[in-house]
Amino acid sequence: MAGPLRQERVSILIFFHDGLDYFLKPDQRRYQPIRRTVDCRTGVKDLIESCGIPHPEVDLILVDKRRVDFPFRIEVDCTADVYPFSAQRASSGLQSRGIRSFVADGHLGKLVRDLRLLGIDVAYRNDADDRDLLTIMQREERALLTRDRPLLMHRVVANGFFPRSQAPFEQTVETIRRFELAPALAPFTRCLRCNSVLNRTEKEAVIEQLEPLTRLYYDDFTKCPSCGQTYWRGSHIGKLETRVANILAKVAEPEA
Ligand SMILES: [Zn+2]
Repeated sequence: MAGPLRQERVSILIFFHDGLDYFLKPDQRRYQPIRRTVDCRTGVKDLIESCGIPHPEVDLILVDKRRVDFPFRIEVDCTADVYPFSAQRASSGLQSRGIRSFVADGHLGKLVRDLRLLGIDVAYRNDADDRDLLTIMQREERALLTRDRPLLMHRVVANGFFPRSQAPFEQTVETIRRFELAPALAPFTRCLRCNSVLNRTEKEAVIEQLEPLTRLYYDDFTKCPSCGQTYWRGSHIGKLETRVANILAKVAEPEA
């Protein structure tokens, strides 16, 4: 006669490396590794997320020193080592490489402005809800930028990033590094308001919109084909040029 159904339990010791402990609770951070006892055949992805780490932040999982994928199920007592994305690692990690387009949640408006200033394609609406963000992300194959951890853990999120800093400047540098965007940067080529790629335009085409001093002193104009915004190199762009230069200088520094 069959006895009552009993699920076997397995014990797993987990180490979070290279800054992933950012997502752990403070007491866990102090006492790494974390020991968990779970039902046999628990998925490694669920286990990692139960510790607070969103799966898009994980690029490499070793179980007893062997590389495994997210669907891997834990069947025996073991040790796991979990690593974030690293530019030094060869491309066999869990995360896609070469991502060049993004969608950002409504709290990251200043990060979005910086990224667009650098020419990066970022979809953004400050009133977008979670469903809107996930829809745009999937439909347009964009990576999700958000500091909303449950949202980043949503199962449909393939690629995403949680900027660690609260400061837009640092968030911009972090995002460029995480997605290796430095070679793709093209400052002043994208509309800060609507994300469209700007066109060069003749002064005559925009002269009606210009203040007298702008008409006099500037000859180099770009115009957004979608929203009609006109840009030129003036005192306003001067400040932005300084910001671009500061971001690029910081990106070029070795990581702390
Ligand atoms: Zn525009």
